Amino acid sequence: MRITWDTLTGSEADRLAGAWVEIDGWIATNDDAPTCHFALTAEPACCTGHLPRDPRARIEVFTDEAVPTGSQSVRLAGRWTVLENDALDWRYQLHEARLLPAAHPAPGFTRRTVLASGLAGGAMLGLSAWTPSASAAPNEAAIAAARQMLDDAITIDLHSHTGSIGGLKRIQERAPFTPVAEPMKAGRMAVLNLAMVADTPATAVTDDKRIRPFRDPAPGELYAYAQQAFARLHEMVKAQKLAVITDAASLKAAHSARPSVIVSAEGADFTEGRTNRVDEFYEKWQLRHLQLTHYRVNELGDIQTEPPVHGGLTDAGAAIIRRCNERGIIVDIAHGTYDLVKRAAGITTKPLVLSHTSITMQNRPFTRQILPNHAKLVASTNGVIGIWPPTTIFPDMEAYAAGIARMVDLTSIDSVGIGTDMQGLLSPSALPSYRQLPELAAALLARGFKRDEMLKLLGGNFMRVALASLA
Ligand SMILES: [Zn+2]
Ligand SMILES: [Zn+2]
Repeated sequence: MRITWDTLTGSEADRLAGAWVEIDGWIATNDDAPTCHFALTAEPACCTGHLPRDPRARIEVFTDEAVPTGSQSVRLAGRWTVLENDALDWRYQLHEARLLPAAHPAPGFTRRTVLASGLAGGAMLGLSAWTPSASAAPNEAAIAAARQMLDDAITIDLHSHTGSIGGLKRIQERAPFTPVAEPMKAGRMAVLNLAMVADTPATAVTDDKRIRPFRDPAPGELYAYAQQAFARLHEMVKAQKLAVITDAASLKAAHSARPSVIVSAEGADFTEGRTNRVDEFYEKWQLRHLQLTHYRVNELGDIQTEPPVHGGLTDAGAAIIRRCNERGIIVDIAHGTYDLVKRAAGITTKPLVLSHTSITMQNRPFTRQILPNHAKLVASTNGVIGIWPPTTIFPDMEAYAAGIARMVDLTSIDSVGIGTDMQGLLSPSALPSYRQLPELAAALLARGFKRDEMLKLLGGNFMRVALASLA
């Protein structure tokens, strides 16, 4: 029988033990080569090494034949197994599993038309720019013309981990950095919100490449880790000769010929809920962009990928937002629940940023995408939402441009930006290098956005929000 991810959150999933079932999902593995053992999740994970903590949001899969680990969604059939008190915190397994051909779109259908067909209500929602029969990929001349339009614009990525700055091993072994300045210059990308990841030590991968259950970090552990992670971020910035934006004046002076970063944190776990740590990191590490939560329910509030614990934003989270507002730090509510955003929107005196996500019409458990009311809430603070480019959601540049257009239609032309999550995605990216920014600009123009609208989407909107927040 066919089951859905909703089945897993109800009692029926337990009664199905031993039955043959079919389910759709996304493969999550650290293997590049085909594999017989992987995790299946309801949607692609955001950052490498992260699975949903809730065992009802993931399935451990064993196949007889190795399965390719590309970015496609898959439909699997297998024997449903229910575990009790598993040491590695799995609840559901699929044994003797095999791929079903039905998971792949029928010939003549692209992923984009499949996505669009899921939007039958689109007209009612005013999704005018979401037209599945979009133009073909822009040609070289169109891309060159778009590149020229970006020459003197301040283009901004709302969320990036580029330069090989993250990961425990890389930090410990001082792995070589990867080029950042050169691709930014080539693609006319002026500013990155460059984020260290605050909760990395709270997850681990075992020798057999299973991702271990979440553990509670020791008091002070993530504070100490953050010192190392910010130090590495700054080492890369220095090695690549990037400028660091610390105030409104340095942001206004940004240019892609002299690429810049805004020092950012994905997760405020290192604060351990204390506002004085905001001041400390502002001074010591030039922190100017703080995402409150990530893949761990921390002291500040609830996250999209775990069951709620706090009922949204905590009082500590509220105090930290106020301190960021006063100090001149951009507040990012990516990964936060709708309830977290609701309270945050009521507290903040500055526009909010939701740096990487996209619209979904399905209220699935543990999704990192957001519903229209969630997007509208961010927009209501005069804020900006960065669209996130994993190929599992947007298979190519045209689809990514369509996803941006879709968010514009649901909010406004002043509410949307791009958040590439460069080097933080589990799947390939529709925008794998900053060199390709002109291709995205051309794809947006081809969708009918005017030059000034395209420039708002690729940086202008975030610029407005940042100028309102920075001192
Ligand atoms: Zn993320
Ligand atoms: Zn990220």
